[in-house]
Amino acid sequence: MYDIFMEITYEHKSVAEADFTLNNILDISNQGFWDWNAITGYVQRSPGWFRMLGYDINIFKNDVFTWENIIHPDDYEQVMKHFEDYISDSVSEYKIEYRCKKYDNSYIWIQDTGKIVQKIDGKIARMIGAHTNIDTEKISKDMLLHQNQLLLSDNATLDDLVKKRTEELTMINKKLQEQMEEAQMFASHDGLTGLYNRRSFEKLFEKEMHRSKRYSYPLSVVLFDIDDFKKINDTYGHIVGDEVLIGISILVSKIIRDSDIVARWGGEEFIIIFPESDLDSAKEKAEKIREAIANEIFPSAVRITCSFGVTTYLKQDTADSFFIRCDEALYQAKAEGKNKVNAL
Ligand code: GH3
Ligand code: MG
Ligand code: MG
Repeated sequence: MYDIFMEITYEHKSVAEADFTLNNILDISNQGFWDWNAITGYVQRSPGWFRMLGYDINIFKNDVFTWENIIHPDDYEQVMKHFEDYISDSVSEYKIEYRCKKYDNSYIWIQDTGKIVQKIDGKIARMIGAHTNIDTEKISKDMLLHQNQLLLSDNATLDDLVKKRTEELTMINKKLQEQMEEAQMFASHDGLTGLYNRRSFEKLFEKEMHRSKRYSYPLSVVLFDIDDFKKINDTYGHIVGDEVLIGISILVSKIIRDSDIVARWGGEEFIIIFPESDLDSAKEKAEKIREAIANEIFPSAVRITCSFGVTTYLKQDTADSFFIRCDEALYQAKAEGKNKVNAL
């Protein structure tokens, strides 16, 4: 009896862990994944899907029209035909290249691949797929093809070709530069909120710590965690939970000064560096943020509170001892009943 119980618990945990791993992969991947429930019409899209096209995460409705609306009008018919051919079993594979509209109304080439993963009574019930950005490869390939055609037709002079090639290379360089900037942004910022991620935060903190030592400036940090956030996800769903995280980021970014640094520390935890601020002043700022969050009405009329741990850098501190104290301050705020600022 005991053994069976242990086994069930273990199995349950592995499913949850697999889910956790998958969610994190979807969160960090630059590919855009989609999951269409053909019965309800609901389409779940991964953060990478929005990132690839430069949109804010989850700004669109979760339906197929969101997809249809971003397909280039000249590619639309062909895409729909291929999609219908696949779901009616006329072709065995769903795989097609077409252009999708980005946030700035420009278009990029993507490759869309998908697979029916569930059928009910012979009818499609669920299909999962991925969008991959193939813009640079596609443009280079098309250009080479075009050049070959020009050479073959003998209509172009060498000058024409050189001029054309230079224009093309400039365009490719511009695209590559954009992709590089996107990749850099992705490595240093959190995909959901656009705030610094933990890695960049640690680097920035290190820098501030040295400045504080060098100039004997005070340096304080506020770590805060949403109270009972699990309940929000359980009651309203993960998407509303995500909207709350985004809402908090916007609210906090508005309150702090340009020289303060806010980052997403982990799941529902945020951290702010207040350079040149002592403990009292950081406490005051944390209190202001606590109040603003508690008074805010988030999407879907959600109300939340947060608990805050505040600490200031001491001469003998290492980064580790400093963050342990900060964590302890937050822990105490939770223990004292939440929706509180606690300084150590
Ligand atoms: P406490 O007041 O003690 O902090 O309670 P809590 O429910 O906030 O804390 P707990 O650690 O039990 O749960 C944290 C929850 O935060 C669980 C997890 O699903 C949720 N969460 C973490 N990251 C994300 C995210 O990126 N999006 C959403 N929607 N939820 C997240
Ligand atoms: Mg929490
Ligand atoms: Mg937490």
